[in-house]
Amino acid sequence: MVLGVDVGGTKVAVAAVDGVTVREATEQPTITETTGALLDGIEAVVRRVIDKVGEPEAIGVGVPSQIDFAAGVVETSVNIPLTGVPLRDELSGRFGVPVFVDNDANCAALAEAHILGVQYLVMLTLGTGVGGGVVIEGSTFRGAHGLGAELGHVTLNADGPPCPGNCPNRGCIEAYCSGQALERDATEFAQDKPESGLARAIGPDGRVSGRHLVAAADSGDPDARLIFENFARMLGIAIAGFVNVFEPERLTIGGGLSRASHLFLDRAIQEADARALPALFKRTKIALAEGGADAGVIGAAVLAAQEVAGPNLRDTAMP
Ligand SMILES: [Zn+2]
Repeated sequence: MVLGVDVGGTKVAVAAVDGVTVREATEQPTITETTGALLDGIEAVVRRVIDKVGEPEAIGVGVPSQIDFAAGVVETSVNIPLTGVPLRDELSGRFGVPVFVDNDANCAALAEAHILGVQYLVMLTLGTGVGGGVVIEGSTFRGAHGLGAELGHVTLNADGPPCPGNCPNRGCIEAYCSGQALERDATEFAQDKPESGLARAIGPDGRVSGRHLVAAADSGDPDARLIFENFARMLGIAIAGFVNVFEPERLTIGGGLSRASHLFLDRAIQEADARALPALFKRTKIALAEGGADAGVIGAAVLAAQEVAGPNLRDTAMP
């Protein structure tokens, strides 16, 4: 039995996981005031689950941060205070069992592959930014140090808009297919066309929110629909590239924006179909994520189970 821990910007979720079956799922708000308080909060909720299920063989932890997986150290972390923290050693010291730490998008992709029972999967997580995960032969592809698979920072247009992420590039997938990109396009349009329906959706902060853009598109606003048309086209171009590189069994779309998939997914698949190599495209199924709310803890636990069974680590994670 292993534990999966999903540390998000707003809540920490923990569960005992057997295969992809979750029990004793427990969560509490993320404490973000200081690193010490955050770690104490994670420890407290993990101990509540251990009190019910007993000591686990290992613990997997997913965090919304860049991870040097080989060292178990957080490289950068925007929303929670973990930058530079040796998180794997810090937590394995607290619990006395092996701990494995990975990026949350990698965990989501790993969960999805194991829930679906596929060996080759690419996942795009469309939210405020664009995250990605790649599963090859049932295991996470990470690059040499664990920082790889940043699928959101593949260039779609050399002269495109500046990437909104912590990234020096222009025209990345994240510059077109993220919540921030949609808000940027909607706000620029509304400012240019004060007579438009979108101009009436400008909020007190001077911006059109993603929620208001979705509402406008759902009510048939042609300008909002056009913004989603452009979004879908660029997403399709991105998907075609990943199909050509990885030939996955499944290309999964997840993240908060997938709740608005009725506004872009069919169009994106059509664009990808027109651009990807046909022999590869016809072998790839493109669909929304099926992992649901427990995907984060499942993916973290699958990671821990895989690592104790046969570590991919260069140095060990024993306490
Ligand atoms: Zn970028």
